Amino acid sequence: SWVVELFTELSERQAESTRLVEKLRARDVTNHAFWPFHAPPMPVSMQKAEGSRVTDADGNTYIDTHLGFGAQALHGHNPPSVVEFVRDRMGTGTGNGYFQAVELELIELLGSFMPHIEKYAFLNSGTDATAAAIRMARARTGKRMVAKFEGSLHGVHDLAAHNTAFWYHGHPTNPLPDVGPDGVALQSALAGVHRADPRDLLVLPNDLEAATKLLHRHRDDLACVLGEAVSSSFPFEEHTVPLIKGTAQEARRLGIPFILDEVLTGFRVGPGGAAQAYGIEADLYCYGKVISGLGLPLSAVGGRADLLETVQSSGMALTDLGRKSSVQTTHAGNYLSLCASYASLSLLRDKGDAYYTRTRGKVDVIRERLARLRAEEGVPLRLLGFGDFIGSFAFLEQESYRDYRDFTAAVNPIGLFLLTLMLRRRGVYTLSLPMLFTGDAHSDEDVDAVCSAVVDSALELKK
Ligand code: PLP
Repeated sequence: SWVVELFTELSERQAESTRLVEKLRARDVTNHAFWPFHAPPMPVSMQKAEGSRVTDADGNTYIDTHLGFGAQALHGHNPPSVVEFVRDRMGTGTGNGYFQAVELELIELLGSFMPHIEKYAFLNSGTDATAAAIRMARARTGKRMVAKFEGSLHGVHDLAAHNTAFWYHGHPTNPLPDVGPDGVALQSALAGVHRADPRDLLVLPNDLEAATKLLHRHRDDLACVLGEAVSSSFPFEEHTVPLIKGTAQEARRLGIPFILDEVLTGFRVGPGGAAQAYGIEADLYCYGKVISGLGLPLSAVGGRADLLETVQSSGMALTDLGRKSSVQTTHAGNYLSLCASYASLSLLRDKGDAYYTRTRGKVDVIRERLARLRAEEGVPLRLLGFGDFIGSFAFLEQESYRDYRDFTAAVNPIGLFLLTLMLRRRGVYTLSLPMLFTGDAHSDEDVDAVCSAVVDSALELKK
């Protein structure tokens, strides 16, 4: 009955929001992900965002820990200097398909974060970036097979979407196993994705020795290996960092290009992303999320010049295959996104190391409060950390798990869904993992309020 009460209270408080959402959902399937059930009071229709706050269509204001899937976590919603820069350029820019100075300025700025990168291609999303990186590696090597890790999320194109976190696609339960023995990709859990051709995809286990064996077995067929140092679907960096670092080293020793997916980690686990923070060397790096500002779409692939040049959009140079490749699209690296990125990353550079120290401090505060909750009340709620900057909450008895399968079997999505709604009731907006992205978006007072809401909700749930 308390669940009905919770739903009723939120539905009443969000009457206008619910009306809009229901109308929209009838015609629009975009971007309302992460909701295992579709019934009022979720999702919410927002009409305003500023700093750490979002306001819904009924005028309710929340502390936002979702922050546009984390893309606005660096400085919060609509940081004034970024808004001003983009507004200023908006009326004077030329649109796409022109060389523009801001692109060069951005690349020079990116050089101060990631000196290891020789060339860049700008695209629109993390999905575009991993697809483009795979294309480059295939074009350069002339090979076809791509290796990825079990559970790892690299976007929604067919190869990337195979065997990804169940919550990414809103399933309340673990999907059917889509990987068989020895990394053979079976039918994807996603409808509309064909059974992967065994020549195309190899799914590596979360175990360095076993992954290395598979790399050796398929070394002549592999165009690239794709990995993320900290994973949203297996968020235990004590396992993933050595796994990815070791695999990257071994792949490169075998002459197989390694693609490091920095969509989550770029600019966040440190100024130079996971490459710098954990000392992982790769051939290509993919950036997304916070690389843009104001939530505008932008992603980038950066890395070895010879790989990037396979898709060079101007000039007639051919690849080693004797054919040119392309990842050019109409809106790739669009002008306003480049402007927002330049302004947002300039602000980050000016903040310097203090930004990372502050953010780490905030995450430490939340972790400490949860540790106390576990010790004093026996509520097994944890903030799963990806580096020092982000987490999702989960009720988990163990501190760590062996692999993605082990971990997903332990997660209770229903409890987390209820926690999300209970947080909403207490003025904290997030999506139903529930996620917590932070950075300068949140003040220390915000963090304190989030902690209290989380602890109070968890205690209420325990009853
Ligand atoms: N790679 C990683 C590590 C991600 O976490 C995501 C999305 O969350 C993607 C790629 C896909 O990015 P996008 O959603 O911009 O397509």
